[in-house]
Amino acid sequence: MSEHRGIFTSDRVQAYLAEEPALETEQLADRIWTVSDGQVRSLFLAGDSSVIAFDTFGTPGRARAYRRAIESAIPGKPIGTIIYTHDHLDHAGYAADLATDAEIVADEICAKVIHLREADGQLLPTRRLTGKRHRIDIDGLEFELLNPGPTHGSGHLSAWFPQERILFSSDTILANARYGLLPDYHLANFVRFMRGFLDLDFETFVPGRFELGDRAAFSRGCDYLEAVHVASQQAFVEMVPIWVLDAMQNYVGEKLRPEFGDLDGFDAHVGLTALRVVHHYLMGGWSLEDTPEPGYLLADEVRLPD
Ligand SMILES: [Zn+2]
Repeated sequence: MSEHRGIFTSDRVQAYLAEEPALETEQLADRIWTVSDGQVRSLFLAGDSSVIAFDTFGTPGRARAYRRAIESAIPGKPIGTIIYTHDHLDHAGYAADLATDAEIVADEICAKVIHLREADGQLLPTRRLTGKRHRIDIDGLEFELLNPGPTHGSGHLSAWFPQERILFSSDTILANARYGLLPDYHLANFVRFMRGFLDLDFETFVPGRFELGDRAAFSRGCDYLEAVHVASQQAFVEMVPIWVLDAMQNYVGEKLRPEFGDLDGFDAHVGLTALRVVHHYLMGGWSLEDTPEPGYLLADEVRLPD
């Protein structure tokens, strides 16, 4: 059988697309579950008569494993809604393998990127949100979806559950230092927008990858990225060859190890992260998303089908 292939062009990726890993599910509140394969993490909710699932898990096989994990946690309720946290295929591709009839909620910018991308298996959102803050009321569940501005990917939405004091923010802050190269992160305002979430009342932090965190871990994740920004700028003054991974790894690693060396993944990732951040300062940022007031995205250039 041939799997939906996203934007892959090589037939040799079929084995990757088909793999169905074991997922670990954990109940966080009366109607809220988190689920992870050790890499990607997501969230799903029990509505009165249906399930609301965030994202789709990254491949067709993982989407099927996700559906089975949902069915065993919440038996007898169909997935009625999928909410895309952002456009990336490793989180929101392959809804065609999760639930073809579900309503799909996403930010308008996310929907426009998906419309133009035409990735195989990535379904177009049916309900598009515009703006920074939305009170959501679906099938007996109430929560908020938040897009403070460009942070990661296109049209990123985080979810806040005030009653349960849970914040879910996929692919943004982590409770560790395993960020790597930060592709498609909009660094100019990233930490500022993320810190803004600390104005919300939450105690449990659910990231889009790896282990769960709490409010303190979220705050420290902001501190860490800010420290990488500061040290990367200092590298210019010290004439560090900023395009050399080892040089950035040594320079920024040494500067930050006393305060952040205990973070999981620090030694393996701090160099890559610094390499990305230093080029942000060298070049001036990532297009329109990385301006100080990023209100000028090319949203009006793209028309979505009705
Ligand atoms: Zn992403």
